[in-house]
Amino acid sequence: MRSGILESVAVVGGSIAGCAAALVLRRAGVRRVVVHERATAELADRGVGVAVHTGRCAELLAAGLIDETVPWEPMRLRHWYVRDGSAALGRVVGVQPFPFRAYSWGHLWRALRAGVPGDVEFRTGSPVLGIAVDGDGAVVRCEGGGERYAAVVGADGHASLVRDHLHPGLAPSPAGYPAWRGACPQERLDGLGEWADGVCAYVVFEGGHLVVYRIPDGRGGRLVNWVLYATVPGAPAASRALDTAHRARLAEITDELLPPFWGELVRRTGPDSVFLQRLYDVSAPRYASDRLLLLGDAATVARPHTGAGAVKALQDVAVLESSLAGAESWESAAGAYDAARAPVGRAMTALGRRLGHGLVEATPAWHTQDAAELDAWWAELAGQGGFGGRGLAR
Ligand SMILES: Cc1cc2nc3c(=O)[nH]c(=O)nc-3n(C[C@H](O)[C@H](O)[C@H](O)COP(=O)(O)OP(=O)(O)OC[C@H]3O[C@@H](n4cnc5c(N)ncnc54)[C@H](O)[C@@H]3O)c2cc1C
Repeated sequence: MRSGILESVAVVGGSIAGCAAALVLRRAGVRRVVVHERATAELADRGVGVAVHTGRCAELLAAGLIDETVPWEPMRLRHWYVRDGSAALGRVVGVQPFPFRAYSWGHLWRALRAGVPGDVEFRTGSPVLGIAVDGDGAVVRCEGGGERYAAVVGADGHASLVRDHLHPGLAPSPAGYPAWRGACPQERLDGLGEWADGVCAYVVFEGGHLVVYRIPDGRGGRLVNWVLYATVPGAPAASRALDTAHRARLAEITDELLPPFWGELVRRTGPDSVFLQRLYDVSAPRYASDRLLLLGDAATVARPHTGAGAVKALQDVAVLESSLAGAESWESAAGAYDAARAPVGRAMTALGRRLGHGLVEATPAWHTQDAAELDAWWAELAGQGGFGGRGLAR
């Protein structure tokens, strides 16, 4: 963007999308950038693992958004396991290439936060309560009062207030099943079974699956990160906490549906370290209008089966930066950004629904599947691509 074309931008949300957005807005010449983050504490301890496709990772490194110093664990293969009597890891149904890097969410966020230029005002404990758009700007209302900016970037996640302002009444729809997440120190599994390095495990059962990969713990050791997706008959759709129904379903899955090694992984993580994550689908029809612009989960939430939410958030930021470069006005940059990214968001939401259907809601009869049937099933489910994120056309 021509230097100084925009005086000031407020970024709502200081997570993955928000930190990266603050960086590129300053790089694009916006004079004053203020990040409003609701959370008071550091965000670094939130979340667990983030798998990033190596192809997408290379694009984000080239865009200067991922820092090569962030620790990661390599993955090369995906093994699909199904319970088979007392076999510790179960039976391998099939093996597929899986070119991903496994990051810790906290390490990734810390690097993005460290990359926010020092002259950006990063306000923590600063929830945005409302937005009012007028002709050539917007007022952001916080507890201390309102402040005027030339534009507002919504990086405020799945329940985005900025999206709500842009698309009133567009609510995220619950996927209908949750994810349980946990991370267990690798040494707690010593002697239980031989799970090879570089392998991401998809442990499948009728009604759901468990995804497992190792991530760095930041102290030279490794954590075994896992995400379990399954339907929970009779659970209230809106419940957020690990209530009785969710605990009972988790116990049933670990005791009766997972092979012993994987069940033990969940048990040894410890009940206090397991948390529940609600899953949603939503995609904003337009990513930008007037003086508001959406990024990351604020723009589109696709189910995490796509393995691409963080990637999508950073790609949004990369495309915002290339749209701003050379643009004559904020409006023309925002229009180009919207045209490039809104269709990707829609495609990713559709892919997430399709993968959720096949991996959770209408699973195959896993016990009778062989490797060829698995490959054909996956090829049909994953369709036109996009698993791990669509390529970033530059
Ligand atoms: C189970 C699960 C597994 C996943 N696995 C992967 C994976 O392997 N690979 C991958 O790429 N992605 C994965 N994702 C997706 C990824 O975590 C998200 O897509 C990504 O973190 C979105 O980042 P964001 O910055 O857009 O939003 P968020 O991280 O949700 O951040 C939004 C921020 O906005 C702040 N905020 C909200 N409202 C306000 C307000 N009014 N005022 C001020 N601040 C506000 C919040 O406090 C928060 O910090 C997974 C997601 C889930 C649920």
